[in-house]
Amino acid sequence: MFLLVCAVLALPLQVASQEAITSPMAGVRVPVLTYHNVDYSGSEYSVTPEQLEAQCQWLVENGYTAITVGQFWDAAHGYGTLPAKPIVLTNDDGWASAMTFADILGRYGMVGTYFVNNNEWQLTPDQLLSLAQRGSVEAHTASHLNLAGLAYETQYAEITNNKAYIEQITGQPVRFLAWPFGASDENAVRAASAAGIVAAFGLSGTAANSAALDPYYIPRLMMMVTDDLSTFAAKVTSW
Ligand SMILES: [Zn+2]
Repeated sequence: MFLLVCAVLALPLQVASQEAITSPMAGVRVPVLTYHNVDYSGSEYSVTPEQLEAQCQWLVENGYTAITVGQFWDAAHGYGTLPAKPIVLTNDDGWASAMTFADILGRYGMVGTYFVNNNEWQLTPDQLLSLAQRGSVEAHTASHLNLAGLAYETQYAEITNNKAYIEQITGQPVRFLAWPFGASDENAVRAASAAGIVAAFGLSGTAANSAALDPYYIPRLMMMVTDDLSTFAAKVTSW
């Protein structure tokens, strides 16, 4: 009798684990690209409008579909599906040129994700709302501090103030965070989680694997002014 009960109890567990292994979501490679300014400053972490145009065109010609971080996260957890060649285009710091970034992506039918600070001298609330309507606006802390090593209370305040600032403008829940400078520590992860952030993005220089995500350090690829189209293609396809 005892054996029979054990066998019956074990059955649903086996079925569940087989489903997980054969899930079509197992191990989809998703490049998450990190952009900053779109301008002619020549700054290392900027790209020119022409560079971004050429990159968007390359993505379209090569069959990529841009999704937001929310679509990526949800699909990786079984809610919704990923397109055949998904890519996430993120823009950090909420510079005024985020509007140029959104305009260029829009011309190619692509959505962006904007990780912004509380800096309305760069982007007005109206512009932030417009970005949210053309993609998604997510957290990057209130004042772009390097959170690693700071007191838990400071880390928590930086994240919650930023989250509340964005939500009050966009009317959308903020679920994601990009660590400023890609820097975090154990307390910062606890603070993010307590603030209601479900996943956070770093800068580790590889694509993300949808089946093997560290929720509080999802890797992203840095886009740089020195990237020519072949470097860009290499980052998207093989890094
Ligand atoms: Zn930043």
